[in-house]
Amino acid sequence: MNKNLRKAVIAGNWKMNKTPSEAKALITELKETVKDANCDVVICVPYVDLETALRETKGTNIKVGAENCHFEKSGAFTGEISAPMLKEMGVEYVIIGHSERRTYFGETDVTVNKRTLAALSEGLIPIVCVGEYLEQREQGITEELVAMQTKIALQNVTAEQMEKVIIAYEPVWAIGTGKTATAEQANEVNACIRATVAKLYGKEVADKVTIQYGGSMNAANAEELLSKPDVDGGLIGGASLKAVDFGVIVKAASK
Ligand code: PEP
Repeated sequence: MNKNLRKAVIAGNWKMNKTPSEAKALITELKETVKDANCDVVICVPYVDLETALRETKGTNIKVGAENCHFEKSGAFTGEISAPMLKEMGVEYVIIGHSERRTYFGETDVTVNKRTLAALSEGLIPIVCVGEYLEQREQGITEELVAMQTKIALQNVTAEQMEKVIIAYEPVWAIGTGKTATAEQANEVNACIRATVAKLYGKEVADKVTIQYGGSMNAANAEELLSKPDVDGGLIGGASLKAVDFGVIVKAASK
């Protein structure tokens, strides 16, 4: 296992936070705190902030992502946004299948797969989220479940496309709760995801796939989590809204 084969990616998930003017103010601070990063830095922002984010990050090392996209290119899907729309704006990344989408908006493994394929067909980099509920961890089925979520999410994704995919292991019980998985737990599940990718695409592809951890990663715990061999970065919610804390996480991933 060689961690140098993959670039660490720290991605912020702003969720439903920040108006465009607030986004501009936060990005002004972020530009300073992440400017020396030796990892990829992404901010995934609400749709209405995308234009501001793209404008304000131009010429910087910050890349911009959306928090979801629909699987159809266009049509009668009121309130939805398609991958071609994001692509034309200049968006590069998109979060797919976040647990809040699965829990509150009826997202399933099958729609996660469809959205992943839609993102890839436009050349967007999908950040595909998988992870277990607390009851599932307590039942001892975390690895089977996460392997299954990963397999379904990647159905019909080619080996070539796979090199663009980022997977985020996000235990649902750790998201926004302040309860973080231990570095060992995060590494164990990330390794299981990599083994699943290896079964589907071979070791060479699997070794190059960036697998993030997400779930209450913050300035205090990032270094330990990111030091693990299979933890290639983080998907950061709450701490991505604080420029100083996000900067500390980016620094930890840059080592
Ligand atoms: C997330 O939204 O993906 C997330 C991990 O949130 P938090 O860092 O707040 O737990």
